[in-house]
Amino acid sequence: SAKEQGRDGWRFFSEEIHEQARKRLDISNGLRQAIQNAELEIRFQPILCTESQIIRGAEVLLRWMPPTGEIPPSLFIPIAEMSGSIVPIGKWVFQAACEAERDWFARFGEQAPYVSVNISARQLNDESVVEAFSEILRDTGADPSRLLLELTETSLMSDVTSNLRLLHRLADLGLRVAVDDFGTGYSSLAQLLRMPVNFLKIDREFVDGLDKRHDSKAIVSAVCSMARAMQLQVVAEGVENETQHGYLRDIGCDYVQGYFFHRPLPPSEFLSLLLESDAQERKAMPEDLHAV
Ligand code: C2E
Ligand code: MG
Ligand code: MG
Ligand code: MG
Repeated sequence: SAKEQGRDGWRFFSEEIHEQARKRLDISNGLRQAIQNAELEIRFQPILCTESQIIRGAEVLLRWMPPTGEIPPSLFIPIAEMSGSIVPIGKWVFQAACEAERDWFARFGEQAPYVSVNISARQLNDESVVEAFSEILRDTGADPSRLLLELTETSLMSDVTSNLRLLHRLADLGLRVAVDDFGTGYSSLAQLLRMPVNFLKIDREFVDGLDKRHDSKAIVSAVCSMARAMQLQVVAEGVENETQHGYLRDIGCDYVQGYFFHRPLPPSEFLSLLLESDAQERKAMPEDLHAV
């Protein structure tokens, strides 16, 4: 009968919820062991100068590979935030970022790419973050001004006052700050200007619309001129084709990042890429310039 079917439907629905809750619990438990079990890895996605296409930076993107198979950050990061695991995991990522920065600086000097690290709002609720990051900076000898903390617009705006205090203390260490996924939240310019922000990262959604929708062009171009007025640098993320790149070049967006140029790469592949382009730039240079 319809009544029984309804009951079955409900049972199915509640089993589904139960199954989802169990999965989240498994992920949460697994994450607690992820560092000790050496299941975390990082990728570097190149960030290029829009004009010259020279690699100027790299975003660190976390990967979790438990024995049961890779789980994407879109799934495990929100759970790590809720359970608090993001605090130790975030320190692990920051340590890896600092080690990379130091290695690249030793090899390439001032030409070395800067390193961009994603930070969750949850990490700014924890007083220990400032002490931990400054200790990591000291131990690795990384130059803080070559490290960028990426905070989403939404997380910067979610508990403005307490997050702001810790953000200022991190900026006082010399670290620089980028607003990630810019355009998806509701920050006011007045609020943004009160924060120690150096970069805006335009969300993929607007870049994706560049070759499809007129309003995306207007938005991206307005963000770039606003950023110039505020003396912020702009990175466009999720660039997937030449049309989008051309438009970003026309409006003077400083940096680009996306599959059109490079996917997130394992550390060894990213280093090979740097060594390759370094060699090419040297080759392009006339001999007499070397002598100077
Ligand atoms: P996000 O910080 O906005 O990072 C950019 C995401 O866009 C990455 O996804 C990247 O792989 C993807 N992407 C880059 N270029 C393109 C493109 O051309 N097309 C498309 N379709 N996608 C592109 P990923 O690696 O899956 O990371 C997703 C999100 O997870 C990140 O978004 C960030 O919010 C979070 N996340 C990643 N690593 C960390 C971390 O170490 N700590 C924290 N707190 N969050 C992280
Ligand atoms: Mg990011
Ligand atoms: Mg982003
Ligand atoms: Mg995004």
